[in-house]
Amino acid sequence: MRKVLLLLTVIAALSCSTSKTNPDAPKTAEWALALHGGAGDMNRADFSDEDIARYEQELINARTIGENILANGGSSLDAVEQVVRYLEDCPLFNAGKGAVFTSAGKNELDAAIMSGSNLSAGAIAGVSDIKNPISTARLVMEKSAHVMMIGKGASEFAKSMGAEMVDSSYFFTDKSWQSLQRALQKAEKMGTVGCVALDKSGNLAAATSTGGMTNKRYGRVGDVPIIGAGTYANNATCAVSATGHGEYFIRYTVAHDISALMEYKGLSLQDAADVVVNNKLVKAHGAGGVVAVDKNGNVYLTMNTTGMFRAYATSNGDKGVGIFTE
Ligand code: ASP
Repeated sequence: MRKVLLLLTVIAALSCSTSKTNPDAPKTAEWALALHGGAGDMNRADFSDEDIARYEQELINARTIGENILANGGSSLDAVEQVVRYLEDCPLFNAGKGAVFTSAGKNELDAAIMSGSNLSAGAIAGVSDIKNPISTARLVMEKSAHVMMIGKGASEFAKSMGAEMVDSSYFFTDKSWQSLQRALQKAEKMGTVGCVALDKSGNLAAATSTGGMTNKRYGRVGDVPIIGAGTYANNATCAVSATGHGEYFIRYTVAHDISALMEYKGLSLQDAADVVVNNKLVKAHGAGGVVAVDKNGNVYLTMNTTGMFRAYATSNGDKGVGIFTE
């Protein structure tokens, strides 16, 4: 198992490497997809082989949903929404069912989605009764005049749009509850989820969903629903979904900074993401990572932590799944 993971990580590193951006560079893939299930400092020794197999299987299941949509000519927006919905429904991750608890023992969820074709975006924050926050974020983007709605207003909007509402007890999992108990003594559950995609029409999209950080104060909003911090897509450059210590990702406008380095400095996706995640954030002690895809179908997944649940696939048949950096 360890060997397989190592091999996959190496394959991911090799097949994701890019050169300097050439604006006229040909597409390397017709479509591409990358997703994450959260980053953090995790040790292989803390996971059983069964845990690892289960996480990998869920990442592969989510990836398969996106691959099928993109391979059949579907849109990157549908792909990222459906991948994130699947991960929201999976209790292993910190989004939707399984979301972490605030210090007050509640779940307050954030999500955002963005379309690179026209820079339209939708986000919700601090909601406790919407089963799939990512789909309501998409409704905000497509059916309202706004970009972000929060709390009760977001819930009212979701109801009026026919979104599936749940009692807040739906989000409870023993794992997240135990994580709060540990967080009160300093360790915490990772598992924000996100997905980026390029479709056959050349449109990029990004989506991210989270319960936030374990033991956060009530009312705290992280980077995930802040467009340009945890989530960003622009057909001129790339799509980015982030995971990590949100306060740093907000201050360093991580997702937009990667896009801006590509747009204004001509950096490749890999170089831009490395500058932000593995240099600027490291210096600032901002832990986390990103998954990203550029307009030519290059994918890059990187983190400055010891682990990030992640997977990717492209139309060329490149595929990988991994957890640790090793
Ligand atoms: N970025 C998320 C937040 O700060 C947490 C995470 O990705 O683990 O809300």
